[in-house]
Amino acid sequence: MSDATHSAHSSLDQRDTETVLRTDNVTKRFGGLTAVDDVTIEVHKGEIVGLIGPNGAGKSTLFNCITGTLSADDGRIYLQDQDVTDWPEHKIARAGIGRMFQETRIFDEMSVRKNLLLAAQEGNANIGHLLRRPDNSLISRSEELLEYVDLGGLAETRAGQLSFGQQKLTEFIMELMAEPELLLMDEPAGGINPSMLENLIEYIRAANEDEQATIFLIEHNMDFVMEVADRIYVLAHGERIAEGTPDEIQNN
Ligand code: ADP
Ligand code: MG
Repeated sequence: MSDATHSAHSSLDQRDTETVLRTDNVTKRFGGLTAVDDVTIEVHKGEIVGLIGPNGAGKSTLFNCITGTLSADDGRIYLQDQDVTDWPEHKIARAGIGRMFQETRIFDEMSVRKNLLLAAQEGNANIGHLLRRPDNSLISRSEELLEYVDLGGLAETRAGQLSFGQQKLTEFIMELMAEPELLLMDEPAGGINPSMLENLIEYIRAANEDEQATIFLIEHNMDFVMEVADRIYVLAHGERIAEGTPDEIQNN
């Protein structure tokens, strides 16, 4: 396995592929703790990239720096060719980053469909936008996505009544509503039962293939990440210690 940034063994030829996300020597400290230590990673258009490593390795902190939830102490972050390092979170979201969190962000009291329509408008989250009637293209997009994950029959159900796995699928398609350039997923498989997990893998693959969604995901479940990712980065103690295809990572 090679840890060179331009690994000849990667599944995609990185020199010929558009870079959607690049972190350039990003460091984030919390007091005396260096949670993310000089990390350089790239995600190319159309890839599914995994980020793995033990608990406390700095995976979620790296995501927080990318989304502008935290500001990096050092290094630069690029989205496509734009330097977004010091941009506020809402501006980065509007630039095309979707994020699925570990904890659920669904409004329990609202219908599944209403959650989807709100998610699509989130980038413009002021009251005027939220009160405005969603346009037909958003409504048809919500229909299409609900069908796609087999939740069409539950569109009018209160989201709080869905199973945990169904809520995860709902959050996944909520993020797809806005057709993000890049979707970050923090442990999407967490707490999901095995049969729902197979569905989630299938839907992530389909979103990647049919919608050209570029996906960067943190995952604990090794079977899941080995099956779904084109390429994997490994973090430990905040440092990037390896990069490669699932086979290369597994054989290391
Ligand atoms: P991972 O997602 O890989 O499990 P995290 O990024 O959540 O790891 O955490 C990396 C390290 O940074 C851990 O030691 C964690 O305790 C610490 N940490 C994370 N967030 C904060 C914070 N807001 N304040 C202080 N320490 C934090
Ligand atoms: Mg985490």
